[in-house]
Parts: sequence; C-alpha cells; structure tokens
Amino acid sequence: MARVDLRNDANVTGDWFVDTRCIDCGTCREIAPALFAAHYDASVVQRQPDGTEELDAWLAAQACPTSSIGTVSRRRRPGRLYPREIQPESGIFDLGYCSEDSFGASAWLVVRPHGNVLVDSPRFTEALVGPIAALGGVRHVALTHRDDVADAHRWAERFDATTWIHSADHSAAPWATGVLTDEHELQPGFVAIPVPGHTKGSVAFLVDDRWLFTGDSLAWSNDHHDLTAFRSACWFSWREQADSLAKLAEHHRFAAVLPGHGARHLGDADELHDRLVQLVARMRR
Ligand code: SF4
Repeated sequence: MARVDLRNDANVTGDWFVDTRCIDCGTCREIAPALFAAHYDASVVQRQPDGTEELDAWLAAQACPTSSIGTVSRRRRPGRLYPREIQPESGIFDLGYCSEDSFGASAWLVVRPHGNVLVDSPRFTEALVGPIAALGGVRHVALTHRDDVADAHRWAERFDATTWIHSADHSAAPWATGVLTDEHELQPGFVAIPVPGHTKGSVAFLVDDRWLFTGDSLAWSNDHHDLTAFRSACWFSWREQADSLAKLAEHHRFAAVLPGHGARHLGDADELHDRLVQLVARMRR
C-alpha cells in the first residue's frame, strides 16, 4: 500500500500520489504516460486521472513493484486487474505485479494448447496463482535474461514447470534445466532466439511469428513513437546487440513487441521490420 506519509512533494495536487519508495523503474510511465512523469530519480503524478483514466492509474498501481502508487483518500482498488489479456483472443496476458528484483520488469503469460508459458517472472503472489491456475497453469518458464529472473523458481516450483534460460545467463537461474545455446523451438510456434548484447545470454521469444518478447533487448518508445534499445543499460556489448537485432530483422517477422522494460507496441510486421532495420543503423552510427 502506498504511504501517504512518504508522498513525494513533486506530485501534482490531488488524490493520486506516488510515494518516495519509488525505484524509478518506469513501469507506471509506460502504462499511463499521461498520468505519470519522471522527476529526477522517481516517478510522480503529473496529472490527476479523469474518470476514464482511473483504470490506467489502478493498472499502474497494481503493477508497481514497490506499491508506491495510491490515493490519499484510500480508495478501494477495483478488484483484480491482472492477468490482463492485451488483445481479445490473443492468449497473451500482462501479469502486472512487477518484482523489485527485476527492477519492475513486465512479465507475461502465454496461453498455449501445448502448455502455457510464463515469460519472465512477476513477483510471486497468491493474487496471481489462482488466476494463472484457472488459465491452465504454467508448463514452461521462459527467461529472457539474467536480470528478470525474480521469483521464477517459485513459479516453476508451484506449477512444476520447466525453466529455460540461455547458457550464458544460467548462473542467474541455476535450477533451470532448459539451457538454451542456439535458436530452439520450445513448443510448436514458440521459438527462443538468442540475442546477445544487453546481456551475454539475452533471448527473445517469438510466438506464432507475431508476438515478440524482447526482455531488455528491444522496446517501443512512447516518446519517439519508434523502436528503441537502451544503450545506457547495455551490460554486455552494444555492438553485439546491434548485430543480434540485425539478424532478427533478417530472419524473423513480428507484429508486436512485448518488452520487460520500455513500452509495448502492437503494430504491423512490415512497419516493425522497417523500424528495426532503421534502429540497427542508428545503433551502428
Ligand atoms: S511503477 Fe512504481 S517503482 Fe516504478 S516508476 Fe512507477 S511508481 Fe516508481
């Protein structure tokens, strides 16, 4: 629960606020960019939500890894908001409940006929266990890279799932028995694609040649309305990250980018291919 006694003075006047425990993960700003803004090393409410925006504020509050978003009046949450299917009939669910251990990275549930896949890990909470079980549980836990492991072991244990991670990042999830080295189809239509760069063992997961889970290797920028990559948060090799994304553009097509950090984008395969080629060119300058 957000703490009124720690309310950041930089919040705009009104009921909604962010407290000073915020770790500046940016998740709320991606979910509700009209309501939350960066202020030095934190997020604050820049505009109070009107009626139709209240849901976005609640979605941000329920995703916030430090539970820093709330209302002075202590309004009751409008029930369970996650898992939240990002498009009707897509089978792709945003899980909210981000973990501080992954610096607030988004995690996803992909509902599949051959067994559901958890992509990266939300924090382990009973608020998600029941709904995920109702959706069919978890057969695989697919980790995009070492930074986003969070509570993956608890999810894998709870649902008796196989955990997958690239060999170069395996030390972050030593219990994982699915160790990736090359491109690999985890199940029909669900492909792991190594994209070294952000970390040595970064992997993207491509589902049905449409949905691309990118971890921290590739994201959408709401500010620039374009694909982006995070040079200041590249822990292994920027040059290799550019090469990995170039290979991705050369060999694969996708129409949606679903990252750990940064904004998500549902678009068009041709558009995203062209944008990715242009991003690689910018990265190599
Ligand atoms: S989601 Fe929470 S921790 Fe992350 S920037 Fe927003 S208020 Fe801060």
